[in-house]
Amino acid sequence: MRIKELRELNNIQQKELASILEISPNALSQYENNKREPSIDTVSKIADFFNVSVDFLYGTSDITTCKKCGLTYCPLIPQDRIVHAQLHSSWEAATKKYGTLYSNTVENERLKAENRSIVCDPSQSLEDRYNAQKIIFKCLFSRSLDASNYSERHVDFNTYIAMLLNQESTKKHLPPELYNKFVEDYGTQPGIPNGETYFYPYNDNSPVTIAAHFDGDEYTEEELDEIRQFAEFVKNKRK
Ligand SMILES: [Zn+2]
Repeated sequence: MRIKELRELNNIQQKELASILEISPNALSQYENNKREPSIDTVSKIADFFNVSVDFLYGTSDITTCKKCGLTYCPLIPQDRIVHAQLHSSWEAATKKYGTLYSNTVENERLKAENRSIVCDPSQSLEDRYNAQKIIFKCLFSRSLDASNYSERHVDFNTYIAMLLNQESTKKHLPPELYNKFVEDYGTQPGIPNGETYFYPYNDNSPVTIAAHFDGDEYTEEELDEIRQFAEFVKNKRK
């Protein structure tokens, strides 16, 4: 087990950790030296305290997924720990600013699949389908924020929805009654090219810079026009 490694990496004394885990220092010492096996309850306490998976704790896996921000990293690699710590604090600031985020990829995919079946089920009420679609938008929003490393320049959730509603692909995939209700509530706004779900924040308002952030994909004149319109919109908003 990696108790000692984790404890030393986090600069915690044996006595201190034992008191946090509500066990005797002697018991902890025996766990660390593999002389005794901790109970399942203690194992999960240790994993929670160090924010690592049980698999990582047992050494069956060298990576762990942060239970809070959902980022996967190796706690044994100093550089990985630093990168995670930085992203984690950006993620924390983002959840304060934008509300609940579905940052864990597995959870995100599960939520999307679950809610998609509600959206597509005509026997459900329009309200339930609307709320299910809103969760799907939040899942996409979470991925978009993740792709921008939780940048503070990312648009807020309402603006993000308006940007997706502006796309032909969203209109095509949503049942008309739902699409219309969303447009009524959020409006439409250019900013994310058709078929894309990531919003890329940028440093200046020039359309060239914005286009450059879309990873060198080729865009139709129409899509580039959307990007330019959005640049105009942002410029006016900042005045
Ligand atoms: Zn984290």
